[in-house]
Amino acid sequence: MPYECYGGKNIKIMDKKIYLDYAAAAPTDPKVVAAMQPYFFDIYGNPSSLHSFGQDAKRALEDAREKVASLMGASSTEIVFTSGGTESNNFALKGIAYANKGEGNHIITSSIEHHAVTEPCEFLEKQGFKITYLKVDKYGLINPQDVKDAINDKTILVSIMHANNEIGTIEPIAEIGKIVKEKGVYFHTDGVQTFGHIPLNVDDLNVDLLSLSAHKFYGPKGVGALYIRKGTKISPFLEGGDQEKKRRASTENVPSIVGLGKAVDLVRETMDEEMKKSYFLRDKLIKGILETIDNTKLNGHPLLRLPNNVNISVEYVEGESMVLNLDLEGIACSTGSACTSSSLEPSHVLLAIGIAPESAHGSLRFTLGRFTQDEDIDYVLEVLPRVIKKLRAMSPLYKGE
Ligand SMILES: *Cc1c(COP(=O)(O)O)cnc(C)c1O
Repeated sequence: MPYECYGGKNIKIMDKKIYLDYAAAAPTDPKVVAAMQPYFFDIYGNPSSLHSFGQDAKRALEDAREKVASLMGASSTEIVFTSGGTESNNFALKGIAYANKGEGNHIITSSIEHHAVTEPCEFLEKQGFKITYLKVDKYGLINPQDVKDAINDKTILVSIMHANNEIGTIEPIAEIGKIVKEKGVYFHTDGVQTFGHIPLNVDDLNVDLLSLSAHKFYGPKGVGALYIRKGTKISPFLEGGDQEKKRRASTENVPSIVGLGKAVDLVRETMDEEMKKSYFLRDKLIKGILETIDNTKLNGHPLLRLPNNVNISVEYVEGESMVLNLDLEGIACSTGSACTSSSLEPSHVLLAIGIAPESAHGSLRFTLGRFTQDEDIDYVLEVLPRVIKKLRAMSPLYKGE
């Protein structure tokens, strides 16, 4: 490994640095940063102010709202800006629960949701709400019939994620939405892994609420939105000023919201092309790993899958050791989800699809994106077999192929 001297310190310089953890955070596109910049230095007014500084900021805000709305076939009055995917999910679940508790106290969700859905559900459970966690099949798919069977006269909300962040499985949201709509129940989907990645339309999906987050599709961190269908009964998330039609008080994060709008502009232009590129590189990586490394298996659905997601179980190796060893080789990926990988608990998603706890510890997730190149995949396919071979040589359980 080459070293270079910086200010008297030896800093290790990688030959290569390959980022394959886009599902945890995508890099902010330089065009997004450029679009945000004037809103720090020139157009810094408060959008609620009547002077031109404020009104210029207000116009930018509404422009971004229009962009976000149109990418999902919504109307701009149905978009509320938030601080990200976690807030959008909290807003949807708690907002619907509190506003509709007179109608019932039952909420249906799945066993593979992001923690930003399961934790608010557990919080609501302590407040007297009843939560049903639906099981998934071995691919991580929810059966729409199970949703139908779980709905009772106390059900006020169904929340099922659009695509899973760990295993990439895309759920049959349109079909579930049709059932939920017929029952007259609100339907929320966590669209953080799909909005900006694959085409989606809130009417086709039959959803009443959809969460999205800018940093998952090349926007800045700490900003997102919640789509709320017109006529939905929901409590405000923050009380205070009149911002966001009194649904989410606090001075709007104008630069970040402008960045979110710009990120939407970019995906509108590039989505088809990026999907095609991702499918190609994803499948090359999956095929390469499964063909060259014994005792490996793809997790998630082979076809109903996010274009950029590769999740592999590697027997007889610890996920954490693989991630750290790959990092030394300049490859960034994850095991389990980024939020849980610091804990020793195996991923709840992998357990839910029926993977044994020992194997669940040995999973690797590579998520590809805008700046991933063919050579990056070649490099991973060159390094990974060597890293796994080295780690397996130290494992008392591995007896060879
Ligand atoms: C990243 C992620 C979130 C959380 O979004 P933040 O903007 O980081 O709060 C929620 N749901 C899913 C599926 C995610 O991938």
